[in-house]
Amino acid sequence: MGHALNYFPAFFDLRGLRVLVVGAGEVALRKISLLERTGALITLVAPEVVPELAARARGGHLTLLQREFQAEDLDGARLVVVATARRAINRWIASLCEARAIPVNVVDDKEASRFIVPAIIDRDPVLVAISTGGSAPVLARRLRERLEALIPQRFGELALWLRELRSAAGERLRDTAARRRFYETLVDGAAARRFIAGDRRGAQRIAQQLLGTSALSAPPAGEVTLVGAGPGDPELLTLKGLRALQDADVILHDRLVSAGVLELARRDATRICVGKASGGASTSQEAINRLLIEHARAGKRVVRLKGGDPFVFGRGGEELQALADADIRYCVIPGITAAAGVAAYAGIPLTHREHAHSVSFVTGHADKNGVEPDWRALAASGQTAVFYMGLARLPVIIERLLTHGAPGSRPAAVVARGTSESQRVVTGTLDCLAAACAAADLESPALLLVGDVVALQARLAWFEPGESDEDLSRSA
Ligand code: SAH
Repeated sequence: MGHALNYFPAFFDLRGLRVLVVGAGEVALRKISLLERTGALITLVAPEVVPELAARARGGHLTLLQREFQAEDLDGARLVVVATARRAINRWIASLCEARAIPVNVVDDKEASRFIVPAIIDRDPVLVAISTGGSAPVLARRLRERLEALIPQRFGELALWLRELRSAAGERLRDTAARRRFYETLVDGAAARRFIAGDRRGAQRIAQQLLGTSALSAPPAGEVTLVGAGPGDPELLTLKGLRALQDADVILHDRLVSAGVLELARRDATRICVGKASGGASTSQEAINRLLIEHARAGKRVVRLKGGDPFVFGRGGEELQALADADIRYCVIPGITAAAGVAAYAGIPLTHREHAHSVSFVTGHADKNGVEPDWRALAASGQTAVFYMGLARLPVIIERLLTHGAPGSRPAAVVARGTSESQRVVTGTLDCLAAACAAADLESPALLLVGDVVALQARLAWFEPGESDEDLSRSA
């Protein structure tokens, strides 16, 4: 389940339904102008009415009851908008609505409202609604201005045109995947560009050509896109990664991938979590390979989403080998690996002309066959060593570095949940880091960084996560 929502977004079909508006000033006028376009049957109750509304009532657009509100006015109403100048009256009417379970909006009174009315960008039938939950109308307005500029004026007409093509596409293209590709080709390509530029006939020609070719109806070849999700902060996803996620039919993701990244994926995509919770069961590599191949063979666009970069301790290579053996088409979209992301957010440059001329990415896991990394090289000075998956073995790693010649005074840090709102940084030296980390009770995922560059963190740190741990990171 996602985080809590204050409001449920919905679009309400009001055609032929009774809507009651109480109060007939300028605000009511604005609401009524919008309501009228929905085909609602509007009843307006108010002792005094602005001339514009009186004129509309005479024109038969709405029923005007020029008097004070009475409880019976609610009979049969499916929606109520209250906009009298008196707050107490507004609230009383709202309470009557609540008692009768009729959704009510009280203008400028969020507490008394059951629903609120968003700022909109109107490209009917395309409607973008923006809500800040009543917390910052200015923000909603700014956002609206930006989206207004971004969404072409003919966007609504484009939507209508695509709807008109539906019957032709339905006849020509039998399967839903082919139809989707048809629409995507139109929307992403020259057809939509022409339409938006005003060349409807040119767009139509392209659509007919597309429908005439057999390319769209040939059974689709599935493919797998290996996507690096980055270390946590969803905004560190690449633009290409975002697009792949939004085009995906099936997404196989690790548990390490942050919820924020998954939220950017196409809603209709099937999501399969194949990662392991620490200590918990995980899908075996063979089973993952099988799933990838199965879905691709079924013609799906499969995204294999991995934390960080797929080629850094991500078994991306093994999965590609399996795909290559099975003759499945694939591509790889890199991601920001944890070392790069964590170093940036913690203010620890991985290399530095005065402190480190190289950087090593090392796994902190013991090799199955007992093969150890080259500890002497990792313990040498003038470089940075970054250990992935090392939190559990932290004391062992530090002890190895010390016995292979690293001085106890060498700066070192552990960064847990780097780039996220719960990032924690514990810095110190090889001598004291293990104790400091144990005291800090860090949670994985975490990286160990060792080298003189770590000392720069005290000066260069800039990122202040939500649950900040400044004191620890500075004093440890
Ligand atoms: N392919 C990934 C690494 C997978 S191995 C990448 O390129 O980043 C998993 C390890 O990555 C974790 O045990 C931890 O050491 C590290 N890691 C991943 N995300 C991290 C984060 N947000 N903060 C700190 N370490 C992280």
